[in-house]
Formats: sequence, structure tokens, C-alpha cells
Amino acid sequence: MRHIAAFALGVTLVCAQQRPIVLKTSTLFDGRGQTLHNSIIVVEGTKIARLGGAAPSDAITYDLTAFTVSPGWIDTHSHVAVHFDDSGRLAGGDEPEPQALLHMADNLVLTLNAGFTTVQSPGAMVDRDLREAVARGVLPGPRVLTSLEALTETSGGPDRLRELVRERKQQGADLIKIFASKSIREGGGQTMTDAQLQAACGEAKQLGLRAIVHAHSADSAKAATLAGCTSVEHGAYVTDAVFDLMAERGVYYDANIGLVLQNYLENKPRFFGIGNYNEAGFAFMEKGVTMVRDTFKKALQHKDLKIIYGTDATAGAHGQNYREFITRVRDGGQDPMLALISVTSLSAESLGMGDQIGSIGAGMQADIVAFDGNPLNDANAAARAVFVMKGGKVYENLGHGTKDHR
Ligand SMILES: [Zn+2]
Repeated sequence: MRHIAAFALGVTLVCAQQRPIVLKTSTLFDGRGQTLHNSIIVVEGTKIARLGGAAPSDAITYDLTAFTVSPGWIDTHSHVAVHFDDSGRLAGGDEPEPQALLHMADNLVLTLNAGFTTVQSPGAMVDRDLREAVARGVLPGPRVLTSLEALTETSGGPDRLRELVRERKQQGADLIKIFASKSIREGGGQTMTDAQLQAACGEAKQLGLRAIVHAHSADSAKAATLAGCTSVEHGAYVTDAVFDLMAERGVYYDANIGLVLQNYLENKPRFFGIGNYNEAGFAFMEKGVTMVRDTFKKALQHKDLKIIYGTDATAGAHGQNYREFITRVRDGGQDPMLALISVTSLSAESLGMGDQIGSIGAGMQADIVAFDGNPLNDANAAARAVFVMKGGKVYENLGHGTKDHR
């Protein structure tokens, strides 16, 4: 069935977009560190056909010269399914399913409109349905990758974990998510044993799946690195020695310093009283804002460390994924161009999709976003995505860049 649907979709796209699209740009970031001036992007179907040259005579043209153009942004850590219910509180199991699904659809639309054309969700079973719904091409949303349900220290011993990794792959997971430490609200100590981590990450690698690991303490991040896992998430207490080891082994670091904790604090009453969202937890998160920022600054000193872009967006945060960029540049001191490479080509590489998304060049997916302002000169411009194209389709055009017919 899936193949038939994909085939039908392909036909629809070809019919709807026989004419090429031309995007006129004045400032264009390619996502790999280059800035191009006064160029055009020619889009055919879902992909970028070429940069520069003469515009095809039958093209539909969008004039984006008043804006700054970038590859679509990527959030490698966004819980797109997590939302507030109709009462405004963090949704739980008793919410009627239609309401739940529509709130999740809201999250998808908000995220795409903010300029994020791909997200990785670690993970909930429902992500698979969201991924497929977006892939059908009608519901606006970013491309979704998902781990489905995460694995934890209580999932079982090494053999059982290997089994579960195989099961996730069968269920359609794009990657494996592993919890190797407690939450930042509980101190972040290592929970999974080294043997468990080696089993889970080892089996994932064997199956060609990436394994991303929630790890706050230095020990848990070190164990994940030695087990051959793909990336360390959060890492609030990671030390210089462990950052060195991660850099040496090519393990990605996904710091989340600009959105997740701030969003919890801003929406405290909506979370309070659920699970470990208690006074102690919130007190910890309050201190955590500076703590994770300092860890990020430390990480930046390790020039070989691959710092990717993830927000850990949860209920209330979707559509504000850009705040991570602003915080990294403004408070974390990251070079704006490096922050831009992080949110585009480097994150794409970490997803194993560097040859499809995250940069602008011939043959790449036409995931293109324009900002009102230049995020490299004014980080706050990251909040002003005015044009969003994903896979050659325009989803947002707030700047009303002229759409003339030549
Ligand atoms: Zn998370």
C-alpha cells in the first residue's frame, strides 16, 4: 500500500509542478559556510536543479531579495507529539484521541512555519503516524524522523535490549533512542550499565541505525561514546576530558540550551504536579539554564567536537525552535556562521542525510527558508521565517515576495 501511495504522490507532484520555480536571492547561505550574492535557485519538482545562470523562461518566480535565504533548518531533537491539552495542561493518557492528534498537527504546522523542514523525534509510537501523515504531502509539517519508543535501563538486560532494537527497526524506527542517565531534574547520574549501552548501540550499528543517547553525567556520556553510540543528548555535566573523547570518536553533541528549560519555566503551572515536575524539579531547572549554557561554552572550546542543533522542544515550545539559535549565539558565544552550519548541514550529516538536506546545491531537496533580516548579523532574525519551501513546495510566503509569471 505504501508504495502505491508514494507512486500516486509522485504523479501528483509532477503534474502540479511542471513549471520550474525560480527563487531570486540577494544573500544566500549554502549551509556549508559559503555566502552567495545575487544568485538564483532553480527548483524542479522536489529538488534544486541548479544555482545561478539564466532563469528558465517558463519559471514561476519568487523574489526573496529583500530577505536572507538559507537551507531549511533542522531540529535533531523535537518531541513533536508532546502538547498541552484543551485544558492547557501537559496532555496525559485520558485525552480524547482526535483532540490529541489535532494538537500534534498544530505542532507540525508551527514547526514548519518557523522554518524547520526536518525534525527528529525521540520518541513516541505516534510519531510514526505523524511521519506518514506528513509524507502523504497534504498536512503541512517538517519531515519527521523518529525512534518510536525509547529504551531505558529497565527495558531489560543486554540480550533483551538487542531484541528490542531489532523490534524497533521492524516497527519502522529511523533511529534508536536510549536513556543512559537520569533527568537533569534528578541529577543526571548514569542509569544504564556499560554492558546495556554496548548491547543497544552495538545492535543498532549492526542494523544500520543511529543511536542517540540521553546522557547528562560525564560517566554516562563517556560510556555512550565508548559503546559506539551516534550522539550524546543534553550532556549537562560533561567534562573537557569526555568532550575530547567524543570529538576523537566523532560522536555528535546535541546541547539543548535555549528552549527546553526556558519553556518549562515559562509554563510552570501547565506541567506542575505531573511526574517529577515538582518544586525540587523546577528549582533544579532554574539553576540548569546557566549550567547548560556554561557546559555549551566549554564544548565550544573543543574545535573538533561536532555540535549539532537540537532543542528538546516539548509542549508549548513548538514553533519556537529558533530560540536555541538565538541563545547559542547571544548567550553561548557561538560564532553565528558555525551556529548556522550546525542547524543545517552538520545536523543533516548527523542524521545520515547530508547528501539530501541541510545545504543548497544541485540535486539537494528543495528545503529553503528565508528570514526577514540576517540571522548572522542579528540573531533575533532567526525568529522571522517569512518564506518556507519543503521538497519544492511553498508552505509559507509571508513576505509576499512577488510571484510573477514570466
Ligand atoms: Zn528529549
